[in-house]
Amino acid sequence: MANKAYKFRIYPDDEQKILFARTFGCVRMVYNHWLDRKIRQYEKNKTNVTYTACAKEMAELKKTEEYAFLKEVDSVSLQQSLRHLDTAFKNFFRQPKTGFPRFKSKKRNKNSYSTVCINDNIAIFNGYLKLPKIGQVRLKQHRPVPDGYRLKSVTVSQTSGGKYYASILFEYENQVQEKEMQSFLGLDFSMHGLYCDSNGNEAAYPGYYRKAEKQLAREQRRLSKMQRGSNNRSKQRIRVAKLHEKVSGQRKDFLHKQSRKIANDYDCVCIEDLDMKAMSQALNFGKSVSDNGWGMFTTFLKYKLEEQGKKLVKVDRFFASSQTCSVCSYKNTKTKNLALRAWECPQCGTHHDRDVNAAVNIRNEGMRLVIV
Ligand SMILES: [Zn+2]
Repeated sequence: MANKAYKFRIYPDDEQKILFARTFGCVRMVYNHWLDRKIRQYEKNKTNVTYTACAKEMAELKKTEEYAFLKEVDSVSLQQSLRHLDTAFKNFFRQPKTGFPRFKSKKRNKNSYSTVCINDNIAIFNGYLKLPKIGQVRLKQHRPVPDGYRLKSVTVSQTSGGKYYASILFEYENQVQEKEMQSFLGLDFSMHGLYCDSNGNEAAYPGYYRKAEKQLAREQRRLSKMQRGSNNRSKQRIRVAKLHEKVSGQRKDFLHKQSRKIANDYDCVCIEDLDMKAMSQALNFGKSVSDNGWGMFTTFLKYKLEEQGKKLVKVDRFFASSQTCSVCSYKNTKTKNLALRAWECPQCGTHHDRDVNAAVNIRNEGMRLVIV
């Protein structure tokens, strides 16, 4: 059995928004209440209050008049909150580096809650997501859920820009037939585009981010000048968050489309095993490396290939893809100079575009690794 999560945008009506807000609040309250309870007991006698004990106490608390409001929200979401708290505690004692669990605040923490599917109380149908105590919420399903997928759990969250999402976890029988590798594509990472492929095509990366970045920077400056705690400032904060979400949404959309096309057209895609963190530090490219979304793109590409029994192959990062002639294997050290965009092989005379030649080498190296 394997798990897979799908994230869909959801559109609650006004009444459902109120119910969501109430659930977010109750989940947070439960977390904080028992975090406090755990801290006090730990200080007293160095013992932990177990999940079972917390759940029992919660059941009792719900019977009191003061806490009767807890009965209005999805009870499983409250139990999940206690489970998350339990995990945070256990993680801390196992690995103190993770930090002591902190109280959740409305400001600092994202609004979210998780719930588990029991007896089909959660389901997707006809563009709606059925949730306990909430009812049917309109859902934008950008891709179909394959047959045989069983819904396990849902996490509902609200972004700071005010959008709602449902991240839905499915369980399925993992038996993809491995495909015979017949068509290969090499991709050479490119800083300003996204990549150049072994057929000489470039990903027409739209650079949304840079264009909108100026606007974002302007709005951010405006925000920083506004008086703390003022009404205008909180309005501006939402404007900035929305702009941010729009930009990253567009980029993600582009990366999904591009990876889908490649995963459908080829059996095996070969890339260089790049260490993006080291690269942006060493070369001080900073923004453009993290911006162009290569990491996200290769993640998308990998699962889109694998769900069809296809492969993403990573070629050793020290494999000299740009210095070797892809026709005769002559090694041209002059190409170490990044400014050299094209070159002629002194041995076989082939004229090379630097990036296409590198992509062809990456493809050939990947082929060599796959076809044994
Ligand atoms: Zn050559």
